[in-house]
Amino acid sequence: MPASSLKGDNTWIHKSFTLLAVRFGVNCAGRIRPNRLPVCLSGYNPHMGKRSTNAEPTTDRASGETLAVWEFAGLMLTYWCNARCAFCYVCSGPDRDGEMSVDDAIGHWSSLDRLAAAHGRSMRIHLAGGEPFHDWVQLVSILRAARDARLSPVEKVETNAFWAADDGLTRSRLELLDALGLGTLVISWDPYHAAYVPVERVRRCVEIARRVLGRGRVRVRWWEFLHDPVDVRRLDAKQREDVFREALQRHKDRLTGRAAIELAHLCERHSAATFAGQHCVDAILRSRHVHIDPYGNIFPGTCGGIILGQTGGGGLRTVEQVWQQFSSRWHENPVAQAVVAGGSYELLQRVRPLGYRELPGGYADKCHLCAHIRQFLVDCGIWPQAVGPPACYGNEADRAAAIPPQS
Ligand code: SF4
Repeated sequence: MPASSLKGDNTWIHKSFTLLAVRFGVNCAGRIRPNRLPVCLSGYNPHMGKRSTNAEPTTDRASGETLAVWEFAGLMLTYWCNARCAFCYVCSGPDRDGEMSVDDAIGHWSSLDRLAAAHGRSMRIHLAGGEPFHDWVQLVSILRAARDARLSPVEKVETNAFWAADDGLTRSRLELLDALGLGTLVISWDPYHAAYVPVERVRRCVEIARRVLGRGRVRVRWWEFLHDPVDVRRLDAKQREDVFREALQRHKDRLTGRAAIELAHLCERHSAATFAGQHCVDAILRSRHVHIDPYGNIFPGTCGGIILGQTGGGGLRTVEQVWQQFSSRWHENPVAQAVVAGGSYELLQRVRPLGYRELPGGYADKCHLCAHIRQFLVDCGIWPQAVGPPACYGNEADRAAAIPPQS
């Protein structure tokens, strides 16, 4: 669908904003006062059945795009993490919570398996967070229930190895994971994690995992940093920034989540117009990868915090139902529609009338622009069915940690 055909839809945004300005007030900077937008006026609710009379067909007439079948899924067991890495894609930390129940995990897993099977595919599941080892009993209970229900095998579990405090504990946990069918253990280890986890624990976890699982079933992200680590915890702020700057140059990852708040100032930045025309069809519609958070929100695989749909709720929606609904009605999701049409620059056009102000210093990449806009939407309570939950976005502690503050 060309951007021009979507721009006409902005009319309702202008009308809504005018209504809101009168009813709820706008602050002196033109920003809607946070938390004053009621859901009923936020303009998007994927569960409002009456709007389905305007539903678009699965195939977008203009672009011919159809929604890919989801085949890779990460179950985010919690937003809690012992660390609060500067690069965390979902802003996890010790002050975050949320816990996926065993019933919810098995429900999502079963539905994902059925979705893939209905299209002649097989599902690949991984368990992630936050830190999935936060509640060891819960992690084991989910894996045991999945095995007993004969669900697809767990492809991988991701961890930062903070729990590998001694050899006996590490070995016993890895042996149990092996017995429960774990495919690969993926250990997150880079300069950002090194600010919170001692390298000795990572080395212990790697060495014992290689003995228990075999070398081919252990991965470290990034191996080269394990071979030549830096104890980031001992560095002062300036030295730490230098290490992070070099890491950003070496690994050109997207600046989303906490990285958009804490690391963007270390990158070369550009005006928002630089990113005009960089649409996100691949990330939103063509990706076969999703994450499901502890509250049942389904995110595109690489864009945490953009809500494609929600499982559970009053209607007890399954993942299959969310896929069906998003497949036919993604045009009604204001964030997905905008970024599919024209990327974060198109999203910028949609949110300017809502009070969003561009960063005068510019943005590191199109995802930094997207993340900054979405943070504004979450702070203001706008489109909560399409962006959120707040646990996935920056809070006051994250803003305080940003050096220098965003400008
Ligand atoms: S700009 Fe936004 S929607 Fe597009 S890939 Fe980046 S985070 Fe995802």
